Amino acid sequence: MTRKGSNLIAIGRGREGAPEVLFVVFDDETGAGLHPRDRTPPFGAALSGAALEAAGIGSRLLELSASDVKRGDVPELRGVNAGVVAVEAGARHEGFLERLRPEVRERGGSLALFGLYSGMSADSILTRGLADFCVVGEAEAALPGLAERLISGGGGAFPPGVKWLEPDGGIGFSGPSAPVNTDDMPFLPLPVLTDGRYRKNSFPVAIGRPLKWGFALGNRGCRFSCRFCTAMTRQSLRKEYRLCSPERLFEEMKYQVERGGRTIISVEDDLFTGNREWTLRFCELLEKNGWATPWIMQTRFDCLDDEVLAALKRAGCAGMTCGMESGSDRVLEALGKRETVETIRRTGKLINKYGFATRYTTMIGSPGETEADARMTAALVRELNPTVVQMSFCTPYADTELAKEAGLRSGDRRFEDPAAGICALSADRLKRIRLKFYAKHYFSLSYLRGHAAGAAKYLIENPRIAAGQNAAFASFVARQALKTAGLRFVSRRAE
Ligand code: SF4
Repeated sequence: MTRKGSNLIAIGRGREGAPEVLFVVFDDETGAGLHPRDRTPPFGAALSGAALEAAGIGSRLLELSASDVKRGDVPELRGVNAGVVAVEAGARHEGFLERLRPEVRERGGSLALFGLYSGMSADSILTRGLADFCVVGEAEAALPGLAERLISGGGGAFPPGVKWLEPDGGIGFSGPSAPVNTDDMPFLPLPVLTDGRYRKNSFPVAIGRPLKWGFALGNRGCRFSCRFCTAMTRQSLRKEYRLCSPERLFEEMKYQVERGGRTIISVEDDLFTGNREWTLRFCELLEKNGWATPWIMQTRFDCLDDEVLAALKRAGCAGMTCGMESGSDRVLEALGKRETVETIRRTGKLINKYGFATRYTTMIGSPGETEADARMTAALVRELNPTVVQMSFCTPYADTELAKEAGLRSGDRRFEDPAAGICALSADRLKRIRLKFYAKHYFSLSYLRGHAAGAAKYLIENPRIAAGQNAAFASFVARQALKTAGLRFVSRRAE
């Protein structure tokens, strides 16, 4: 099959005629089927590509969809002189890897895996011959060095964070991955940034002009360890909390606005305000420089206070995502959130006082959760009235403490799953609770009074995107309602 050229993004240029690196990622890596799915740039591949360009090696990025894999397609390699094909695969892509590896080898290249599955299951992947190399740890820490070494054909040791199969069948390992110095990271390459496919769909904020999203990563890691936290949806799970210099992040944001024409920036750090002093310094830097482009970030309620919120407002922060999870202290404790409902309530009111756009994420079906707990969550959401609320089913993803505690096999559980069996409420019951929650919340008078005007502005400023999002949400609600009523709904198109 011939892949359409539009699916390929040239990340960086290399020497004329020299082999390149082809990064392959899947656009179904996370997602719940219900919530507007963010299309976040694949930072690992994009930053590795930028580092390779600095070393004179070109690279391209190919995004495949779940249906590509189901159909048995492998990337068309004929048009790309790929010395290394680096794939961010999951366990469900094993069949794809089996087909891909001979094609790569036939052309004299090497197949390297990176990402969570590569890190968790490297030995088994290599023993079964699914890849030549597995990156263990952050892609951008090991992939550029590995690709450079393979393409140049030079000898010497592999960079830390790489595993391979030895001729005697043993597993070679270059040692634990060294953390990336955040200040040394390249900027997200402009061809990726401006491609148009990457958008923060979960954050419909009106800014007075069409949204052109920029994405930046500043601080890495998180200093908390919630039991449900998964690297499927996080940039930097359980990695040491590493701060970049405020100047580094500011420079990248400026670059994205001035060179990339971005009108809003999402800072994708897992815990943006995890260090109070850093946050105040960063905000002061933006304020002093007259920063005028809106930006959003994500953090925890207990990492915000009046002074920090005031500084964020002055620095042009337009909104934030916070993990609320539950309105029940008992559930928050079971999740290892180390936060109380009172802190969430008090901080949520302060956030509203400053007028930030808000996206709060909640969960139901957590360990030991009852219907009464779920009602408490709905009541807390009603009280704080965020711009967007997302209710997911608590799911023990493969890499979570929840999965370990429940004795679940570390498989390839990648999508939220109400049937995970970690709470007494049945999957059907959880689906009904969620549907009722959405219907009551989004059609309530308080929600409409608080957010209808903003939603209308967003729709006018971004008509095409907003129409698509609204249609997807309406279709989901309709399907769920029909299913809940015991009717089967199968769209003609899906058939
Ligand atoms: S605070 Fe957020 S990023 Fe940190 S461990 Fe908890 S869920 Fe994960």
